[in-house]
Amino acid sequence: MRIANLSGRLVLLTDAGWTDVERASRGQFSADPQEIFERWDQFRDWAAQAPSAGDVLLKESELHAPVPRPRQILAIGLNYRDHADESGFAVPEQPPVFTKFVSAVAGPRAEVVLPDGSVDWEVELVAVIGRHAWQVGEDQAWEHVAGLTVGQDISERDLQMSGPVPQFSLGKSYPGFAPMGPYLVTPDEFADPDNLELGCAIDGEEVQKGRTSDLIFSVPQLVARLSAVLPLLPGDVIFTGTPAGVGLGRSPRRFLAEGEELVSYIEGIGEMRHRMVRA
Ligand code: ZN
Repeated sequence: MRIANLSGRLVLLTDAGWTDVERASRGQFSADPQEIFERWDQFRDWAAQAPSAGDVLLKESELHAPVPRPRQILAIGLNYRDHADESGFAVPEQPPVFTKFVSAVAGPRAEVVLPDGSVDWEVELVAVIGRHAWQVGEDQAWEHVAGLTVGQDISERDLQMSGPVPQFSLGKSYPGFAPMGPYLVTPDEFADPDNLELGCAIDGEEVQKGRTSDLIFSVPQLVARLSAVLPLLPGDVIFTGTPAGVGLGRSPRRFLAEGEELVSYIEGIGEMRHRMVRA
């Protein structure tokens, strides 16, 4: 199953094309894309036999984040060996966890307003929680994931690295720094949801390319370790970490500049396009 947020309304891909969920369900399900995660199991059952209306013309320019208002955004640092290497860190024994504040959420076609500093890219697989997850074992973890989407953990490195202790959460939370999309795809749509190619390019030049099979802590391991500490709520998202190729790890270092277009993709999900602008 594939869903999207089209100008604030939940739409579902059916045999006949994109279908407005509130209309097709005659109001059984809200048009609000965030609310659907509260009733994810019911929705998935309904969607499996939903009427194929195909009543919606999907314009990519009108797509917003498929998860527009998560209550919690959890993000993982140093979760690929090659990225830990380029960052000058040992492979972690525990996943380093931080948050991106919710006001940073943006859609898959937004402009990113560059603050002063050194703004970097990090393409990431994002797992979206579909069932209240509290002390869930790895073997039950995928059952608590509604679906997967593409994320960019955009990061202003000067702020991130400043201070007596690093400011990960703040440096990664300027408006527009947590874009997600273009679609949410359920795990059953993939031959292996733990092995997906992901990457990104700047103005057509590939800067990151990896596979989620190289994650140090896989999606099931993250759900298990995080939910051992706090309940993961329906509609929460986990930014799972980025592979090598970020600007900070390059020699010379490179950061995003006004006018550049950042294209981020994951195999089987789709791609996002973000243009860098100055305020
Ligand atoms: Zn990241």
